[in-house]
Amino acid sequence: MHCTDLSDTPIRSLFIRAAEHAAAYREAMADPIGTPCDYAEALAMFDAPTPERGEAATAVIDDLVATATPGLRAMTGPRFFGWVIGASHPVGVAADFLTSAWGQNAGNHFASPAGAAVETVAARWLLDVLDLPREASVGFVTGATAANYVGLAAARGAVLKRVGWDVNANGLFGAPPIHVAIGDDAHTTAFSALQFLGLGHDRVFRIATDDQGRMRADALARAVDGLNGPMIVVTQAGQLNTGAFDPINEILPIARAHGAWVHVDGAFGLWARANASVSSLAAGYEHADSWATDGHKWLQTPYDCGYAIVRDAEAHRDAMTIAASYLPPVAEGERDPTHFVPELSRRARGFATYAMIRHLGREGIAAMIGRHVALASMIARELATEPGIEVVNEVVLNQIILRFGEGDAGDRLTRETIARIQSDGVIFAGGARWRDRWVMRLSVISAPTTERDARRTIGAIRAAWRQVRGVNDPGAA
Ligand SMILES: *Cc1c(COP(=O)(O)O)cnc(C)c1O
Repeated sequence: MHCTDLSDTPIRSLFIRAAEHAAAYREAMADPIGTPCDYAEALAMFDAPTPERGEAATAVIDDLVATATPGLRAMTGPRFFGWVIGASHPVGVAADFLTSAWGQNAGNHFASPAGAAVETVAARWLLDVLDLPREASVGFVTGATAANYVGLAAARGAVLKRVGWDVNANGLFGAPPIHVAIGDDAHTTAFSALQFLGLGHDRVFRIATDDQGRMRADALARAVDGLNGPMIVVTQAGQLNTGAFDPINEILPIARAHGAWVHVDGAFGLWARANASVSSLAAGYEHADSWATDGHKWLQTPYDCGYAIVRDAEAHRDAMTIAASYLPPVAEGERDPTHFVPELSRRARGFATYAMIRHLGREGIAAMIGRHVALASMIARELATEPGIEVVNEVVLNQIILRFGEGDAGDRLTRETIARIQSDGVIFAGGARWRDRWVMRLSVISAPTTERDARRTIGAIRAAWRQVRGVNDPGAA
């Protein structure tokens, strides 16, 4: 028997072994979150010549765990505040294990009835939770980058169709130009989506923003004044650094007066709509035309989970449809997942979303968001009392940006504090540039984060800053 023959390794014991490795990893996560090795070290551990002969299944899996573990960052931990990252909730992970094990190609509903049906239901639940138009269509994509791409593809098709141009058939060469307006502090992936669509990341009206990164409606009005023809306005619900929302209720009338399609990048911020105490921040966004949001951020699903939501389902389908004689036709009322996303073959992304919404329920989702907002405000409030720490943004949601030290030295001191926090390993927070200055950014968006974690976070940041300040000015320590 060749050693790659699975008959010497029952599937059951292989899967259980993998699950036990997974559980051991997650159970060890609690404390402290630690620091991974760097890329060069991780590469050195994986690096090996191309294998000639196969190896036994359990040996491969055991060795994969041993090789990968030192280079894994504790993104699922309770004090991980880097970027804007959900914590891959265990229920979503379990559903995701099954998604992989079932091996469904969820491109169409004939191929995988369950894989397609679960998306139909999860899509409806999502529209309920986010309180978006129930007639909208939902594409299950990899994340908000892909969702921005899909939403803006639908936008591109629809605004050109109105002037008699079929971009899906005829492309952009010779098409009437589309005016695109986007806030100066939009997420970089919204610009990428424009790039992928032939609209160009620089061929846009970059609209001036205020101190929180919100698009200024008066600047938008001036930029589009007198413009005619197809137009798309890209708005943002939840700015990466500040958590701020574009003033959608001022933007919409301007956009409407120009017949523009309004797209929303709401990767995390759109979820404010799921909690009554912060939903007013995102009120009015339901009147937009398309929305991009993530499952792997505030809903805590594992990665490979974002949603492209489009009010005009026909524009959505027109932009994404893949037709071939060997693909089954879709009857009235049926839904093929692939009609709303760029891919044909794809994992059954709906299962994890379905499991997470069932597990948390609307109440659980609202409570988690409320807790994160409260903890973010507590962290900001407490740190603001520490001499030399400035809370740079208005903490309205879950994002906090901090500045350490005054004046010209601030950039260096802020970076030193970030480096110290990262090497201490009690929490993880990264750095960012905001208004030409370095800041430390924290995103409170991990399901396991508790008040105790928030208190330890305050202590860890304060201690790191005091050390940095002491080293730089021994008299002040
Ligand atoms: C995270 C984020 C994105 C990108 O989403 P991915 O899921 O990483 O593709 C886009 N816009 C905003 C505002 C984000 O926070």
